[in-house]
Amino acid sequence: LDFRQTKFLLSAPNIYNMPTDEGLEIAFAGRSNAGKSSALNAITDQKNLARSSKTPGRTQLINIFQVNNHLSLIDLPGYGFAEVPLAVKQEWQKSLGEYMQQRKAMKGIVILMDIRHPLKPLDKQLIDWSLESNLNILILLTKADKFKRGAQKNQLLRVKNDLPKNKAINIVPFSVLKKQGIEESINILNSWYDQ
Ligand code: GDP
Repeated sequence: LDFRQTKFLLSAPNIYNMPTDEGLEIAFAGRSNAGKSSALNAITDQKNLARSSKTPGRTQLINIFQVNNHLSLIDLPGYGFAEVPLAVKQEWQKSLGEYMQQRKAMKGIVILMDIRHPLKPLDKQLIDWSLESNLNILILLTKADKFKRGAQKNQLLRVKNDLPKNKAINIVPFSVLKKQGIEESINILNSWYDQ
């Protein structure tokens, strides 16, 4: 896979208006500000492919990027905005859960969590759904540069111990700033594609 070839395809207002369920999809999800846009840009080696949306709430779109004719990257709206009303949060959760259960093209999910604040309730929920749906899971512990290597390792172990033992789960400390974990992530995504 050459992620550098990735191009913006379209934005969908919600999961009910996605393109036809065909080919392969890898979703990207995480709390707002976790570093999802930065990670997408790093993995595709492009400066402005994904842009972080600082506007909370309904207006956030699902952005779809095409790597090649078979594979798309699905940039899901960031969750966890404090300002978003509970009803909107619950609606988002419900629709995401449904989407993950029924979307056949979905091959795997990249879940981004700030290495300093991992495994918030919605992160865990997302991991549970992903396991139920037999998805490949790549957890990026973002902004790893905020910790020294030793502390990174400890946090990695802590996260690992808090999750079920499962071969489907990969956990990688990741830093756009230090270019850490990018190659490893690309290798993991390639291995999903080749399955
Ligand atoms: P998004 O809301 O999940 O798309 O997050 P962004 O990619 O917009 O990043 C949120 C904030 O975290 C921005 O201020 C980024 O500059 C910062 N950020 C992203 N990646 C890193 C990283 O690897 N290291 C550090 N120190 N900051 C990062």
